[in-house]
Amino acid sequence: MKNKAFLLILIISFSFLFSCFYVNYFLKNIYVTDFDDYDEVEVFKDYSNKKINLCYGNKVNCKSILYKVKGSVNTKRIGTYTITYIADYNGVHFSKSKKVKVVDKEKPELSVEGSFTNVCPNGKTENVKINATDNYDGDITDKVRYKIKDNKIIYKVSDSSGNTTRKEFDVNIMDNKGPTIILNEENIIYLAVDSKYKEPGYVAIDDCDGNVTENVKVTGSVDTSKKGTYELTYSVSDEYGNETKVNRIVKVLPKNDYKPGKLGNKTIYLTFDDGPGAHTARLLDILKKYNVKATFFVTGYDNRYNDLLKREAEEGHTVGLHSYTHNYGIIYSSIDAYMEDLLKIQNKVKEYTGIESTIIRFPGGSSNTISRRYRTKIMSDLTKKVEEVGFRYFDWTIMSGDAGNTKDPNKIVENVTSGIKEDQPNVVLMHDIKSYTVDSVERIIEYGLANGYTFAPLTMDSPVIHQRVNN
Ligand SMILES: [Zn+2]
Repeated sequence: MKNKAFLLILIISFSFLFSCFYVNYFLKNIYVTDFDDYDEVEVFKDYSNKKINLCYGNKVNCKSILYKVKGSVNTKRIGTYTITYIADYNGVHFSKSKKVKVVDKEKPELSVEGSFTNVCPNGKTENVKINATDNYDGDITDKVRYKIKDNKIIYKVSDSSGNTTRKEFDVNIMDNKGPTIILNEENIIYLAVDSKYKEPGYVAIDDCDGNVTENVKVTGSVDTSKKGTYELTYSVSDEYGNETKVNRIVKVLPKNDYKPGKLGNKTIYLTFDDGPGAHTARLLDILKKYNVKATFFVTGYDNRYNDLLKREAEEGHTVGLHSYTHNYGIIYSSIDAYMEDLLKIQNKVKEYTGIESTIIRFPGGSSNTISRRYRTKIMSDLTKKVEEVGFRYFDWTIMSGDAGNTKDPNKIVENVTSGIKEDQPNVVLMHDIKSYTVDSVERIIEYGLANGYTFAPLTMDSPVIHQRVNN
């Protein structure tokens, strides 16, 4: 029994060994060596792993055979491709596939050029040139992002495959400028009592935060039912905490004082009193050269220059009325005396210009005190009277100093230009009977034009410029 069992085991063992031998030696098949079912290839590179080794035979003796490839790999385009190897040989069919992935592992190129000495807290910089290109995506400058961290600005860009390039720079973070508030219309607004105040609006721009108009707070109010000066304050802060405040003045005037027309508005009204005289023609030549229109408050006692009245009007200037006699003792002795003198100069101007002028300037201005010598309260009466009968009187806001303080044209230029302000009416008192005044005019005009001012003649619609009446 023992021998029989041994024999059986022996037979089984032999059969097994034989069958292994048979399979390996006599049973033929198609074999492939070193086959990977997954390949990766960098975009734009050649895909060279395409070839495989296929053979027909057995492990001891195997001969190479031809095969077909189905599918292809486009190495110019990122993606996953499948290729299948197929062979039919001696009735044996072979088919095997592999995945080939075309990938982009190259980082984009990022160039950042500029200065980082002053960088806004939000990272906004000026004059920084950024450029990003990727081997696969092309220009990806618009994908560049930046952030501020630990006094560094970090620029970052990723391509569509997720490859990221970073550039870091040390920065000096600061916003040392508050927003700029620009008020629409004038900084000084004049209204008549009982009219409506409508906020003309404003814009606020910050160099770092951009448009911050909606953060502007307006404080103060205007009560148009009462005459008075009201102040509105516009304030806004940027995110860094820099605050800007600007004011607007709203002057509510009694109805009689209010005349439409804008004050300020970068306008200069040059006014010349006491002429025409020996230097007026030269002055007119200068004004003509610059196409500047002015206002002449003329006198009537010197008939040598009557033709210049005509020329003043013809060349677009306003011929206003100063006084026929310019004699304080006469004109300020009574209302009647003043009115008589005024109508006399009005007639003379009409004779030479054809214009019935109603624009006047009191000798000495409405605030003069010299008139007290001749009649008390005469200026209080006259300022009312002339307006009642349809005249409009103008004082000034800037004294050139040519009526006594100085004879130096340089000093006159300085007096006038230092008084000129954007946000106030600039009515300049000068005298065209003085040669040194005429000497100064060209430089005053050039200053005004260079600084964006317009020169205008006074008209009945010009802003009301009245000084305080002192008598
Ligand atoms: Zn005068």
